[in-house]
Amino acid sequence: MCLLGKVFGKDNDKSLNLKYPFIDAKNIAAIICCHVIKDNKPILYVSHDADDGMWQFLCGGSHEEKDAMVVSLHKVYLHDTSVSSIATLPLGGVAERKDINSTWQIYRK
Ligand SMILES: [Zn+2]
Repeated sequence: MCLLGKVFGKDNDKSLNLKYPFIDAKNIAAIICCHVIKDNKPILYVSHDADDGMWQFLCGGSHEEKDAMVVSLHKVYLHDTSVSSIATLPLGGVAERKDINSTWQIYRK
């Protein structure tokens, strides 16, 4: 029998086993749209602003200022761990995907 299986059993929060992928601190502020948080829409557009280093995670729809929410980068990651694949997006970079199963298209703004 496997003792490790008992200690690290399936009751553990699986997010604990995933490595936080960003070089930015977990507690830095990031912008996420309310559609992702409240309506559970997928993140389809990410930008890493060159001027202030701010990360933005949007659903890909159209947005007004009131749709933006400020959360910690760690919260974004816990909400959708698939953002780990664009965690190295450089300053001034944008990543977009058509849907959650598509690969990210990365370009500069
Ligand atoms: Zn949105």
